[in-house]
Amino acid sequence: MSKSYDPQMHTAEHVLNRTMVNMFGCGRSYSSHLNADKSKCDYHFPRPLTDDEAQELERKINEVLVQNLPVSTQMLSRDEAESLVSLSSLPASVDAAQPVRLVFVGEYDVCPCIGEHVSSTGEVGLFRLVSHDFTPSDEENGMGRLRIRFKLKKSLI
Ligand SMILES: [Zn+2]
Repeated sequence: MSKSYDPQMHTAEHVLNRTMVNMFGCGRSYSSHLNADKSKCDYHFPRPLTDDEAQELERKINEVLVQNLPVSTQMLSRDEAESLVSLSSLPASVDAAQPVRLVFVGEYDVCPCIGEHVSSTGEVGLFRLVSHDFTPSDEENGMGRLRIRFKLKKSLI
């Protein structure tokens, strides 16, 4: 992951991913581009989002952000980490004997990550879903690409 991304955007990405998983049972984003002013995340998804769903997604994310949940990290052994979260996204090159760094957003989300985060979700600001679009796929599994673009409105309080 590049070093130039914004910890606020990146922390928002964690909350967005968990909210997508909770609402739709999809996986976390497989690709993302984070910039300080505007970011996008791509998901394997079977269909377009409706505007109602997009609004609900934005609402739920902000519900989490305004709780000002602590963002914390823990180094755990691979076995301990695996009891909390799937490690299938870790590259195969990661040494199985090495501890795994898990990032917690309160009790809302946990995932393995080596990135930089803010220390509580109140620092993220408010999440604004700018647009969503869907590109169907020709592949047999029928999963297309759902792209979500978002901005943050800083200074929540
Ligand atoms: Zn992270």
